[in-house]
Parts: sequence; C-alpha cells; structure tokens
Amino acid sequence: MTLNDIESWRTLPAAQQPEWPDNEALGSALADLRSYPPLVFAGECDQLRGRLASVAKGEAFLLQGGDCAETFVGNTADAIKNKLKTLLQMAVVLTYAASVPVVKVGRMAGQYSKPRSSGTETRDGVTLPSYRGDAVNELAFTEAARMPDPERLKRMYHSSSATLNLVRAFTTGGYADLRQVHAWNQDFVALSPSGERYERLAAEIDGAMRFMHACGTDPEEFRTVEFYASHEALILDYEDALTRVDSRTGDLYDVSGHMVWIGERTRQLDGAHIEFASRIRNPIGVKLGPTTSPEDALALIDKLDPNRDPGRLTFIVRMGAGKVRDNLPALVEKVAAAGAQPVWVSDPMHGNTFEASSGHKTRRFDDVLDEVKGFFEVHRALGTHPGGIHVELTGDDVTECVGGGDEIFVDDLHQRYETACDPRLNRSQSLDLAFLVAEMYRK
Ligand code: PEP
Ligand code: MN
Repeated sequence: MTLNDIESWRTLPAAQQPEWPDNEALGSALADLRSYPPLVFAGECDQLRGRLASVAKGEAFLLQGGDCAETFVGNTADAIKNKLKTLLQMAVVLTYAASVPVVKVGRMAGQYSKPRSSGTETRDGVTLPSYRGDAVNELAFTEAARMPDPERLKRMYHSSSATLNLVRAFTTGGYADLRQVHAWNQDFVALSPSGERYERLAAEIDGAMRFMHACGTDPEEFRTVEFYASHEALILDYEDALTRVDSRTGDLYDVSGHMVWIGERTRQLDGAHIEFASRIRNPIGVKLGPTTSPEDALALIDKLDPNRDPGRLTFIVRMGAGKVRDNLPALVEKVAAAGAQPVWVSDPMHGNTFEASSGHKTRRFDDVLDEVKGFFEVHRALGTHPGGIHVELTGDDVTECVGGGDEIFVDDLHQRYETACDPRLNRSQSLDLAFLVAEMYRK
C-alpha cells in the first residue's frame, strides 16, 4: 500500500464536511498535519483488534465512553482525570460481574467533530452555520465564531496529543491501580443515594480483593490499565492527513486514534466515509440506527471486513429503547447466518434524545437503561454475545440527563448543563449504569 491508496474516498460524495472558506489555508493545515508524528502506534491498533476479537467471541466486554463532543477549553487535567476515573470504576464493576476482561476505549483524544441534522442554525431571525465541533468552528453564536477555520484541525491534533499523554501517564503511572479504583467505588456506594442497592456487589468485590491480598497476589495487572482512544472519523481531510503506511506491514493505519467509527449520518455504502474506512487497518465501528436493514449490515460487513477478520468490525447499535427489541433481532440473526461475527455494542444514548419542557436536549436514564436491557434480551434470545456498551458520559457532576439514583429532574437541567452537543450521563449516573448492567449480567 502507498499513501495514494487512501485517496479513493475523494471521488465519492462525503456527507457532513465543513465548507472551509479558504482552500489555501486548508492545504497548509493539512500539510502540517501530514508532517506530524502519529498519535498512536499501528501495533497498538492491532492489539486492540485482538482484544475486540475476544469480545466478538464472547470472551470479553467492551466499555466505550466519553463526551459527545470534546472541546479545547474543556480539555483540562481535571476533566480528563475524572472521565478516566469514571470509566475505570465502571470497568471494575463490569469485570467482576461479567467475569471476563473489559476492553476500555475512551471517546477521547480526538472526539472533536460533529455531524449535524442541519447545516445552519437560526436564532431570533439570524441564520449562521451550525456548530460542527471544535475541530471546525466555535460554539458561540456569532458569525466569526461559526466560521470554519482549518487551523482548528491542528489544534485538534495537539489537544488529542495532550489528552493521550495524560491518559498514558495515569494508566501506567499508578493512578489506575485496581485497589485505588475499588476504593473509589466503595466511596460511591457509601455516598450515593442509590448506593445501598449496590452494596452486595461492592462487598463481593471487596471480598475478592481481600482474598487475593491474603494469597499474596500482587500482579502487575493490578497497577496498570490498557486504555484505548477512539473517535468518529468524520472530517475526512483530517483523518486522511493522519494516515500512515505501517513500516512493519506496509498497511495503512489512521494514526489519529486506535479505533475510529463511522456515524449513522455518514455510513452510506457508496459514500466517502465507508470507502475511507475500508482502506485502513484500524478496528472500525459503524453506528446502526433503527432503520438499518439486514442487507445494509451485510453489505457493510462485505465492504469493511471482507476477510471476516475477528475484531475488525464493531456494530454500535443505537435504535432507541422503544425499537431495539423489534428491530435488532433480524440484523443479528442474518449476520450470524452469513457466518460473520462482528462485535455487537449498545449505544443507548442516541436513540433516546428528546427536548425537555425546559428547552434542553436531554435523555432519560431509564430509557438508556431500558435500551441496554433490550439489547441484552435480544442477544440472550438468539444465543449471541451482547458485547458491550458505548455511552456519552463525563466524570463531572453535570445535569444533562434526567433520572438516575441521585435523581436529576427537568427543573435541575439548567444548573450544570455544559455539553457542547448531546447530553451526557454524569459521574453518578454512569456508575449507576455500570452497577445495573452488572446486575443484568448476573441474571
Ligand atoms: C455521536 O456518537 O455523537 C453521534 C452523532 O452518533 P450517531 O452517529 O449514532 O447519531
Ligand atoms: Mn452524541
């Protein structure tokens, strides 16, 4: 393979691309990006593909989560640390309950661009370009802020690099020690209003930890954590500029993140995004909404995973709590009948968004939970593996989704509504979800 092989997407329709005002400025930003070092190593992408192969076989579980949209100003040490901490806490609970390894993948270090339902936004009679994520423009509703600026693509790279650097430091430098993460979970159970419900599970984990301690086990695996970065591959110029030929194998890798996914709005079979994804060797995710037909799923498999390479392809199902039980079985059945074994993951967020009476875009915790339940039921009934969850969350105490053990009401939403795009589960709602999914595993 040569770098020319990645360019095939350019002849196809690419949905959701920004209208850059100045091609010269874009060209110069892309030339800079092409000269930058990779953010991840191709060998790490292969390792993740191996982990995901275990998920596909039913021998591991995938936990993928983070912001809907990362922002440059929101990318502080505290925000990164709290997100990572929340994901690690969830992972411990799930590991214990499922008794299989949990593959931990952040929607982090690259989640800076957003597809939008409309290219423009109108407020009080003023129409401006929609916010497309910090990689493209700014959220503030002014003409200057909403003007796409290709220099932002470079800032995306540098922000992603800083995030990855801190995440790597935390996950290998002692912060992620299992005993520490377990202690945080004990705090959550002791302090959360819904904590009582989780006491038994937390006590069991505590017993297991004490037993291992008494046996004198102190493996290296307790002290470090394997953590991967993922984002939606939306702005193809950026992903293209970060594609490299792997010197070990000659294959192409998008080294902007370990795993990338193609969103519901850009997964057209004859479109540029799927073409781009078909050329890189990274593990690939594809979002599947409620209107996906089994034929669509099979065609995606043929295009993205023609060799049926375990761990290569992850289907991220986001149908909505009311539809998953009706619409998912045919997909899972036909895919299995065709001999394919993708990773099946539930994104219980994007099919459950609505506008609250307060005007905020929100999601009900109970709907989120119910979609995961439905997803598990479908797989249980068909004898396939409910491979994991993909969630929008933050480690901070925001008020963006309603419900949860420490209940957020519609009237609370304005208090700390900070997302740049979709509503995220806050720290305690995320931990609630982990404990409740853990209970599903044990039933
Ligand atoms: C997202 O993951 O933030 C997103 C836009 O999802 P989807 O493509 O499933 O709508
Ligand atoms: Mn989102």
